[in-house]
Amino acid sequence: MRLRDRYGAWGIDTPRAESWRDRAACREADPKLFFPKGGDVTGSPGAETRAYAKGKKICAGCLVRPQCAVYALARDERYGLWGGMTPRQRQRLLNRMKAAG
Ligand code: SF4
Repeated sequence: MRLRDRYGAWGIDTPRAESWRDRAACREADPKLFFPKGGDVTGSPGAETRAYAKGKKICAGCLVRPQCAVYALARDERYGLWGGMTPRQRQRLLNRMKAAG
């Protein structure tokens, strides 16, 4: 095992903080499925649904979907498919969470 694989890109003696990524179903997938053109909240909901349809199928079978979703929600990620949620879906969820206190 290479040092980088064991300790991350920095090569220092700390555990990899994002080890859930190693189990991501999208590791070998085309990144364009998760960060498609026209996949941000400025497009229409229909365009967003179409842009992320293939990526969502991969997310549906991902074992680390909860970790991925929490990661994106905690960082208020504005782009891309995370945890099987589009930017608009994450925005709605964050708004509901803020409203609930
Ligand atoms: S939930 Fe989707 S975007 Fe997140 S790690 Fe899994 S496959 Fe990748």
